[in-house]
Amino acid sequence: MGFAINARHRLEQNGRAVERIASPASHMGGTFGTTPHILIMHFTYGASGRSSATWFQDPGNTSKSSAHVVVDRDGSVIQCVDFDTAANHAGQSSWGGLTAFNNKSFGIELANWGYLKPGPHGSWTSYTNVPIASPFLAAHKNGNPYQPSDAAIGWEPYAPEQIATAVAIARELAAKYGVDTILGHDDIARGRKWDPGPAFDMARFRAQVLGGRAENGPNVLAVHSPTGLNLRQGAGTEFAVIQLLADGTQVAPVEQRGSWWFVNVLDPQGVAQKSGWVHGAFLI
Ligand SMILES: [Zn+2]
Repeated sequence: MGFAINARHRLEQNGRAVERIASPASHMGGTFGTTPHILIMHFTYGASGRSSATWFQDPGNTSKSSAHVVVDRDGSVIQCVDFDTAANHAGQSSWGGLTAFNNKSFGIELANWGYLKPGPHGSWTSYTNVPIASPFLAAHKNGNPYQPSDAAIGWEPYAPEQIATAVAIARELAAKYGVDTILGHDDIARGRKWDPGPAFDMARFRAQVLGGRAENGPNVLAVHSPTGLNLRQGAGTEFAVIQLLADGTQVAPVEQRGSWWFVNVLDPQGVAQKSGWVHGAFLI
């Protein structure tokens, strides 16, 4: 991949700055007061990455949205906001006692149509009627953006090249700025935003970005679910519950099977107490 972040807080690939479509200053919040350690993942709900980067500049973009980079489906990337500057990607947001995430996070946009609408004969299309041949079918963890809120609906899958680029960029953000927390827009704006949505394998992404950095022991994640998270005997809801893990319980992932993770449950001293399977969507 060959990505690096230079002294001007811009992304380079193989020693050259990536394409730049700068968002207007009015779509930014100025230089960060404190270097963020949080990364927020998004989908564009749009066509090409270029179209979204260009939209950030558009006078008709009355919400004045922007993001640091947009990663297209082919893995190419466009930078819109330098990494020392707050982009307007989070909007009204709260998580873990924090609010106003524009000022405390980086934003990566993935070109993607997001949630799809049902068409004839079981087909799915974007809201602009672009057919999506093999959609990812799932209900959103926070409830779907439209009714029925708990049924499996279509989402555009993310391309492997696109995810690979996003992982590489996120690793650079971790290395240069100390990013240690990766959240979805749907984690910090629950019920208002649905990106990156269920087609984005957050547990795998976190492990790919942060897993290799854990030099002092296994990668440790925490349960993020106000109602707790079931520890099960197998990788699926059909398996018996061993224990309800409280919000904030620390776990060490051992193995992944689809959306499910086999984890060691840690006590406050970090010692493994028991093991089982949990759904990775609720680990942070
Ligand atoms: Zn978003």
